[in-house]
Amino acid sequence: MKYEDFPENIKPYLIPKPSGRLIYQCLGCLSEFSIEKLLYTCPKCGEVLLLHDPDFDRLKEIPAATWRAVFDYRRMLNIPALNGIYRYHELIGSVLSLDSILWLGEGHTPVVEAAASLQERVDARFYFKNDGQNPSASFKDRGMASALSYIRYLIAEGQVSDVLAVCASTGDTSAAAALYASFLSPNVKSAVLLPHKKVTPQQLSQPLGAGAAVFEIPGVFDDCMKIVEYLSEHFNVALLNSKNAWRILGQESYSYEVAQWFDYDMNDKAVVLPIGNAGNITAVISGFLKFFELGIIETLPVIIGVQSSHANPVYRYYLEPVAEKRNFVPVNVRPSVAQAAMIGNPVSMPRVISLVKKYNRMAGEQKVFVVEVTEQAIMDWQLIANRNGHVACTHGGECLAGLVAARANGIMGKNISAVLDSTAHALKFSGFQDMYFQDTFPAEYEITPKSELANRPELINPHDLGTVPQPGKPLSGEALKRFVTRVAEEIADRLELKRI
Ligand SMILES: *Cc1c(COP(=O)(O)O)cnc(C)c1O
Ligand SMILES: [Zn+2]
Repeated sequence: MKYEDFPENIKPYLIPKPSGRLIYQCLGCLSEFSIEKLLYTCPKCGEVLLLHDPDFDRLKEIPAATWRAVFDYRRMLNIPALNGIYRYHELIGSVLSLDSILWLGEGHTPVVEAAASLQERVDARFYFKNDGQNPSASFKDRGMASALSYIRYLIAEGQVSDVLAVCASTGDTSAAAALYASFLSPNVKSAVLLPHKKVTPQQLSQPLGAGAAVFEIPGVFDDCMKIVEYLSEHFNVALLNSKNAWRILGQESYSYEVAQWFDYDMNDKAVVLPIGNAGNITAVISGFLKFFELGIIETLPVIIGVQSSHANPVYRYYLEPVAEKRNFVPVNVRPSVAQAAMIGNPVSMPRVISLVKKYNRMAGEQKVFVVEVTEQAIMDWQLIANRNGHVACTHGGECLAGLVAARANGIMGKNISAVLDSTAHALKFSGFQDMYFQDTFPAEYEITPKSELANRPELINPHDLGTVPQPGKPLSGEALKRFVTRVAEEIADRLELKRI
């Protein structure tokens, strides 16, 4: 719809201008720093930072009903900068001008209600939000759109030039970083560090395709992270890991979209998401809090974080019910099919601890829970989802397994509808499906394929045929007729088809 055609009372708010202030705020010593310089950790105490708008309260002057209407009307705009996560500009990067904003198609991924058969089986009402339908096929694009829009803003302001963006990754961060950085080439170049053999071939192909410098490092993600931290402390590079608070800000869009999808009614709703480096759960909690503080939503949804028993430091932390006695202990991870979440020492843990406390306090009751699932359950539920019409990645399967666990242990009542974050596209992790179907999982995964879920192609090539068609050598006449009849009869036989 054209600007002229929007209602008069909406027009003043429709197209946002740069507003507010954003500053880095340290979660440790509460020091504040200007955003004119790229910062990742507190220069004073070394803790992680979050972006904070000291003028946030100005947004409360606009009634919640107006905010809802503005976001709904913005759906009808065809302005690229506002088509993605910046539909919520005032909450995501209010200082950025629209011409700094990078939009490659991320955001507003579909929320698909689960098939009736599947909801029945799980005994819960639920939806998948398919974040694998983002440009680089994971939710990481939300944060990269924000981080790279900010870098573009710094370039425009003359604060930086010739940026080298680096990140460590379990696969998807580097895919997103390389893609978004390449859109800003030649001003921005990227380098990614991946744990050798711990990302899938599909994920490896992504930064290679986008032209990043790709380094494979022995060890696991946590080792790569240490090297990237060293690089960012000693060299002039822009860090794109979730230590980068801009990424968290962009990922908050997930919560805003969920709320908008349900017409801002978060009553009896839950969001289920996997936890790896804990950036995503930080962002989702932070996003709902902002909407709640502005009155845009009147209830805070239940948040259920899910971890595999092979990479479960956050789950272990919250096992201790008494907050004062909790003590964070990193774990050594074991191989996991939820490989993008295979992290033993999550960078965003301090953010989680601080935000979970605030969230539960604002909700007036415990609303954040962490559950643990087995590798077996992750794989089984991913495949079961697929057999009911849903393309969920292994992390989506992890969420479904987590929902089942939350139903079983009473965290989630039957009246609650859950939104499951399928964080990436299943095709990135199809190798795990192959291992399941061929029963070739190494023992460490502790996965035994269930025969009813396994599947394999059958070659139909009757031996008595003699000649069969080949590329460039088609059959014709009698030979083709014999081939078609024999193969069709064989298939009919195997499918036990009835003759008409
Ligand atoms: C990064 C990632 C996760 C984990 O998210 P965190 O923000 O690190 O907790 C989960 N699933 C997929 C597909 C990912 O790429
Ligand atoms: Zn500090």
